[in-house]
Amino acid sequence: MLLFEQFQTISQNFGFFIQMPDFSLSIQRWYRQNKRSLPWRETSDPYFIWLSEVILQQTRIEQGTAYYLKFQEHYPKVEMLANAPEDEVLRLWQGLGYYSRARNLHAAAKRITEEFDGEFPSTFEDIQSLKGVGDYTASAIASFAFGLPHAVVDGNVYRFIGRYLKIDTPIDSTEGKKQFKEAAQLLMDPKNPGTHNQAMMEMGSLVCTVSNPQCASCPVNESCMAFEDNSQAKYPVKLKKTKVRNRYLHFLIVTDGKQLILKKRPSKGIWAGLYDFPEIEYEKKQRPTKSDLGKRELSEIEKDGTFKHLLSHQKIEATFWIAKVDTIQTFDQAEIIVDIDGLDDYPMPQLLIRYLEKSTIF
Ligand code: SF4
Repeated sequence: MLLFEQFQTISQNFGFFIQMPDFSLSIQRWYRQNKRSLPWRETSDPYFIWLSEVILQQTRIEQGTAYYLKFQEHYPKVEMLANAPEDEVLRLWQGLGYYSRARNLHAAAKRITEEFDGEFPSTFEDIQSLKGVGDYTASAIASFAFGLPHAVVDGNVYRFIGRYLKIDTPIDSTEGKKQFKEAAQLLMDPKNPGTHNQAMMEMGSLVCTVSNPQCASCPVNESCMAFEDNSQAKYPVKLKKTKVRNRYLHFLIVTDGKQLILKKRPSKGIWAGLYDFPEIEYEKKQRPTKSDLGKRELSEIEKDGTFKHLLSHQKIEATFWIAKVDTIQTFDQAEIIVDIDGLDDYPMPQLLIRYLEKSTIF
């Protein structure tokens, strides 16, 4: 039963009165009948739940499922992930983007093995202390695997609650984050936190969708405030528009026909820890100048394609240049000489994979 104080708090904070248990029971009933069958919903193992949650951040379910199954097969135990070489983990992650997730996953697996004797931590605080685990992921693992009453708030839940309660505090403000978390916590069924949380996210994903929400068939439409005055499109409110930066990258494939130069990227910034080719960057469209090619003395370079690539805050135009040399030489500690036939062993950004698939010289 919902506590009286909770009714009061939510009434004060959001200016209305609602039968909270009815809300949660309605969406749980809907969830049982309509949920999608997904592999991570068949397990209560916190390690697999964690894997799925990290993989699914910023990733579509269709794409994430293949990666989840791949990781589960390669590393059925957290110790196996912990003991794997970083290059191997990044190679498996290749194509998913946001590579810091893979590095954090690897670091956290090591910590679980070393500090928690391989047992996945079972308190919210310990779970949240793992590298790369924020409030959302910790709440998901705590509720799905351990039945702890921590409400999840992801993009789907922001939209669902934002409309349901007509909360106009921007979701990307500190106050907004606090308010939505508080609302989500008050709406939750503490007896069934896992099912409640799954139902909240599935509702946002399948019913209270970004465009054309399915209000007519929504199980809580009778108490939805945005549905009442047809203001669904106004919620949730966002403060800032993301500024997109244009980047012009030029990659040099320095090769003697059998080998080429790869460069390991630094451990910070985009594509951290992955391998790419020596590169030159400009702020506007232009051809690489002789002086920018540096000490390599590449008298002739030949264009081998231009690719556009979108990241969350960056629009990249990448041009690839073939520079044929008689003898390959490195000029930087991060550079290595590798056989063209062995390129598959090196984790690379998706942009380079796209190029390698199209290029006629590989
Ligand atoms: Fe979302 Fe419509 Fe349901 Fe309200 S009635 S929660 S806007 S789907």
